[in-house]
Amino acid sequence: MDISRRNLLKASGLSVAAFAVTGCGVAASASVTPEIKSEAAVKKLMPKSTGKRVVIVGGGWGGLTAARNVKKQAPDAEVVVLEKRALFTSCPISNEWLVGEIPLDFLTRDFFTAAKEYGYKMLQTTVTDIDRKSRTVATTCGTIDYDYLILSPGIRYDYSGWFGDDAQMAERCRQECPPALMQGSEHAALKKILEDFEGGNFIISIPDGAYRCPPAPYERAALIANYFRKNDIDGKVIILDPKDSPKPKGPGFMAAYKELYADIVEFHPNSSVKGVDLDKKELKVAVTDADLKTTMKIVKFDAANLIPVNGASELIKKAGVSMGKAGWGSMKAPTFQTKADDRVFVIGDSVGGYPYPKSGSIANGQGYIVADQIASRIKGTKEITNVTLPVNTCYSMVNDTEAISISATFSLVDAKDPEGDPIKKIVGDKKANNKRSAALGKGTHNWYQGMMTDLFGA
Ligand SMILES: Cc1cc2nc3c(=O)[nH]c(=O)nc-3n(C[C@H](O)[C@H](O)[C@H](O)COP(=O)(O)OP(=O)(O)OC[C@H]3O[C@@H](n4cnc5c(N)ncnc54)[C@H](O)[C@@H]3O)c2cc1C
Repeated sequence: MDISRRNLLKASGLSVAAFAVTGCGVAASASVTPEIKSEAAVKKLMPKSTGKRVVIVGGGWGGLTAARNVKKQAPDAEVVVLEKRALFTSCPISNEWLVGEIPLDFLTRDFFTAAKEYGYKMLQTTVTDIDRKSRTVATTCGTIDYDYLILSPGIRYDYSGWFGDDAQMAERCRQECPPALMQGSEHAALKKILEDFEGGNFIISIPDGAYRCPPAPYERAALIANYFRKNDIDGKVIILDPKDSPKPKGPGFMAAYKELYADIVEFHPNSSVKGVDLDKKELKVAVTDADLKTTMKIVKFDAANLIPVNGASELIKKAGVSMGKAGWGSMKAPTFQTKADDRVFVIGDSVGGYPYPKSGSIANGQGYIVADQIASRIKGTKEITNVTLPVNTCYSMVNDTEAISISATFSLVDAKDPEGDPIKKIVGDKKANNKRSAALGKGTHNWYQGMMTDLFGA
C-alpha cells in the first residue's frame, strides 16, 4: 500500500463497520444481560490446563507482546489472551488516519494469524471480574483459571469532574466530543466530526494528571490544522492545557504551531476544563495567571475533542491490585509483579508508580519483562532481578511529512521508601529532538512498522 496516499478521509469512512465488537455468540460488551452473565459465571471458558496456564487480559500493545514472548520462552505453557475487540486497531499513527493521510488498514490487524503463528490462544470475550483467591477470571463467555495472570487492559475515562455521577451525560460527551484515546469507535466518530466540520472553533482539551500518550493531543492539533489548511476550512484549533506548555516536546510543538499554523492554532496554557455544557456547546475553563490567580472563563466550541481525566481500567481495582483514586496498578519496581500477589502482573497504561509515560513503546518493553519473569518461574529457574528496563521512543508528526521525537532510557538507583528502608527506584533520562524533519517523519513509520512486526510478525 502506498503510504503517501492523500485525502483518504472520506474514502476510508466506510471501514467504520470494521470496529464492531462481537464475541462468543453474544455481544461481548459490558451491557450483557444478567441472564447471560449468570450462565457465563458457571460456564468454563476452557477446561483446566494440564500444564501451567498464563492468562493475559487485553490484546493490545502490552498483552500481545507478553503472549508472544511467554510462549517463545516457555513453549510448554498454555498462554491465553482474552480480548473484547474483534479487530486490533492501533492508537499510534491513528492521528494520521483521522486527517486522511493513511488508510485504515495501516492501523488494523487480525488477532488470529499471530496467535496461530506464535502458538498462543486468542479468545474474544469481555473480562468482567478477577478472583485472585481461586485464581479465576470471569468473562461474558465463562470463567477461566490461571497459574499466572498478566493484566494489560489499558485505561478508563473519569468524567466525574464534569458530570458527577451522571453516567448518561458522560456517555453523551464521549460520543459527541470523542476523546479518541481508546481505539475503535471514538476515532471513527472524531473522524466523522472532522469530515462534517465547516468552520469555527475546534477545541482540544488536555486532562489533568497522567494520561495515555501525552504528546498525542498536540500532534492531533498540528495535523488537524494542516487538514483545515489543505481543505480551505476556516477553523481554529484551540488547545486548552492545564500545563504551562506542551509536554513533552514542547519547543517542537510550539515551533510548529507558530511557524506552520500561526493563523490556525491557539495554545492556551494553564487552562483546565471544569465544566461542559453540551447543549450550549460551552466549556467552563479555569485559567490560572502568573500570580496564581484563577478566573473562570466560558469558551464556545463548534466541535471538540474533550479528553477527560484518565485512570486505569476498572479491572485493576477489581483484581485488588490498584492504588489511589485513579486505580493504577501497584507494583514492585522493576518487575511489574503486583505488590499484592506474586502471580499477578500489570503492564501497559494501567501501570502506576513508575516514571514511564503511557506509551505503546513502553507497554511493549514491559511485555518482554513480564514474559522473562513468568517463563523463568515456569521453567523453575530463579526469579529475574536484574531487569533490563524498557526504553521509550515516540515520534509526533506535525505536517504531511515532518515529525519531532523524544526518547527516554531508564535506570535503577538506590533510594529509601517513606519508612526509610532501602529500595530501588527507577529514574528516567529523556532526550527530545524538537527540530522537525522529514527524516523523523520517515522514522515515525519505520518505528510503527517495526512494532507491528514485533506484535504480529508483519
Ligand atoms: C492518538 C494516540 C496516539 C498514540 N501514539 C503513540 C505513539 O506514537 N507511540 C507510542 O509508543 N504510543 C502511542 N500511543 C499510546 C499507546 O496506544 C498506548 O500506550 C498503548 O496502546 C498501551 O498499551 P496497553 O496494552 O496498556 O493498552 P491497549 O493497547 O489499549 O490494550 C488494551 C486492550 O485491552 C482490551 N480490554 C480492555 N478491557 C477489557 C476487558 N474487560 N475484557 C477484555 N479485553 C479488554 C482492549 O480492548 C484493548 O485491546 C498513542 C495513543 C493514542 C491515543
